Amino acid sequence: MNIVLLGAPGAGKGTQGEILAGKLGVPKVATGDMLRSAVKAGTPLGKQAQAYMEQGELVPDEVILGIVEEKLASADAESGVIMDGFPRTLAQAVAIDELLSARGSRVHKVVNFAVPDGELTVRLLGRAAVEGRADDTPETVRKRLEVYRKETEPLISYYQKQSVVKSIDATGTVDEVAVRVDEVIAVP
Ligand code: ADP
Repeated sequence: MNIVLLGAPGAGKGTQGEILAGKLGVPKVATGDMLRSAVKAGTPLGKQAQAYMEQGELVPDEVILGIVEEKLASADAESGVIMDGFPRTLAQAVAIDELLSARGSRVHKVVNFAVPDGELTVRLLGRAAVEGRADDTPETVRKRLEVYRKETEPLISYYQKQSVVKSIDATGTVDEVAVRVDEVIAVP
């Protein structure tokens, strides 16, 4: 099963994606994590992505699609994937639909994580204090939320048209949210 976790930065997709990947035994395609590793390792991809990330801007679609394609081609993605932080633009959503369709597959479920704006900001700035991520400064957080509204939020209606998206209340404890995710995915 191919699952997309949709939602603003700080909505908790990464945490829930990890839990879900463990339960279902399928790999996670987390573009943010992949990019951060590339930046840390100083690869050409990392060098290309770093400036965008630090500004809270999106990395260009071609770059993202390149790394996703590579990941999907790997054998461990055969039984399905959990996409976290991808797709983030309409162009990415269309591209992944085409890619999956060429393999006789599709996006089966989309979970939209709903969290009020005020709480998102509190969470992101809190995470900045703990993890020290370069893109969690107040300025960048504002930018990332703005980019989310403009580029990524429209994907909710894109997936509504395919009747595959369900929104969940993503406030509360990690365990509470995990139960809501399971209900949408119908994990036994
Ligand atoms: P968050 O959702 O908390 O903002 P991510 O770890 O998913 O964090 O992404 C961090 C940064 O990596 C983004 O702000 C963006 O610059 C880049 N990025 C990650 N995924 C994508 C994507 N699918 N398309 C474009 N840029 C991306």
